[in-house]
Order: sequence, then C-alpha cells, then structure tokens
Amino acid sequence: MVKAIINSLASIAFPQNCHICGTSVESLENGVACDSCWSRTRHFSADSALCVKCSHPLDELANRHSASCHRCTEQHYDRAVAAGVYELALAAVLLELKKTPNVPDRLNRLVRPTVEMLEISANTLIVPVPLSAKRRVERGFNQAEILARSVARLSGNHLDAFSLVRKAHTPMHRTAMDRKARESTVKNAFEVKRPKFIEGKSIILVDDIFTSGATVSSCANILKKHGATSVSVLTLARAVEGRH
Ligand SMILES: [Zn+2]
Ligand SMILES: [Zn+2]
Repeated sequence: MVKAIINSLASIAFPQNCHICGTSVESLENGVACDSCWSRTRHFSADSALCVKCSHPLDELANRHSASCHRCTEQHYDRAVAAGVYELALAAVLLELKKTPNVPDRLNRLVRPTVEMLEISANTLIVPVPLSAKRRVERGFNQAEILARSVARLSGNHLDAFSLVRKAHTPMHRTAMDRKARESTVKNAFEVKRPKFIEGKSIILVDDIFTSGATVSSCANILKKHGATSVSVLTLARAVEGRH
C-alpha cells in the first residue's frame, strides 16, 4: 500500500511517457510502458498452446496432432519457457533494461509464474547467458545477469555468473543475418571456465529474449559437454514467427 502510494507520487514527480503509445505511465512499477500497453502484451501460462520443447505458440489447426513445432528438435536445451511474447510492453522494458540495470516490479512479477513452469531442485544452478568481456565493459552490466538474479531470488537457488563465458565479441547487427549465419556466429562463442561447478548440475539458463534459440542452444551444448545433467532456458520474452 505504502509502496503503491510512493510509486504513484514518484510518477507524478518524475513523469514518464509510455515508450509505445506516448501516454503518461501510471506507476513506476510499470517501467517504460503504460497499463494499457501492458495489458495488450501477450503473456504465456501453463494453459497456453505452446511447443513442449521451445514454447513457440502452436497454430492450433496446423499442429492439432502434435505438441511440437518441429523446428527446435536439434537444439541442445531440454526445454525453453518464456513469460510472454516479444512485443509492446515486454519489448519496451527489455530494451530499456539494456540501458538501465533496473527490473521494474511488473516485469519481476512475470518471473515467478515462469520459474514455476520449470522443475527446480536443490541441485539447480541459475546461469545467465554471458556477454563478452568487451561488451560487458562497454555496457557496465549484463542484463541477463540482472534477470538471473531475480530468478535465483525467487527459486532459492544459487546464481553462477562466472562458470560460463562468451569468448568472442559477436557483431551487433545480428538481426540483419539469416538464421544460418546467426547459428555459425554463436556456435563456438561460449566456453565453460569452471567445469567442476557445472558437472552434475541441472542448469537454468537465463536470458532476456529468445529469438532463434541458437544462442541458448550453443550454451546448452557446451554446458552438457561439461557434465550438466539438464539445461532448461528461461527468457522473459520470446520472438514469435508468423503463421506457417
Ligand atoms: Zn502505452
Ligand atoms: Zn519447438
């Protein structure tokens, strides 16, 4: 209650316009998107019709007899879950998170049900998808690590932001590349620096956005080569391709 009052007072003192529609944001906990844009953003739940492995929404007609999208079969993680679709409020707050290492409460609230979609045990380790050392210095923080901290806090598991590292500095303009080019760019980009921390663990790999799955698949591959018993992926948003 007190927090709600402080939030609404703060939003009067520091007015923030919605990065999507331009109207003023009602509360600090919304981050850079207004209530209306948040409510138009699609969230996933346990009842959503999603691929059992990668959580891509299933076209109910095309996939009536299957629970798989059939495009993720060769990816190395066991399961990937996401809070919602990469659009509107989720896209705006995740873009902002690359500039400011602050997770708005409304985004944090989406982490809990997403964590609950995964099996977690005392043997689970929370690992953020790393940035290269050069990029980490340029940005000052890794947004995936900021989100992984929320996941670790909610699940009660340890965060390990040191064992998995990104060797190469991958180019900025990945969106301009096709899927094949993206995959070969990230294929050998990661290494496990501290194998004894990974061996025998079930890993939850955390990132902000799941696009093609190539990055997390490459991470999962190297983690499993170093003895991880399973690798699940948790992202806050998931890019969704058109109907196919
Ligand atoms: Zn808006
Ligand atoms: Zn799939």
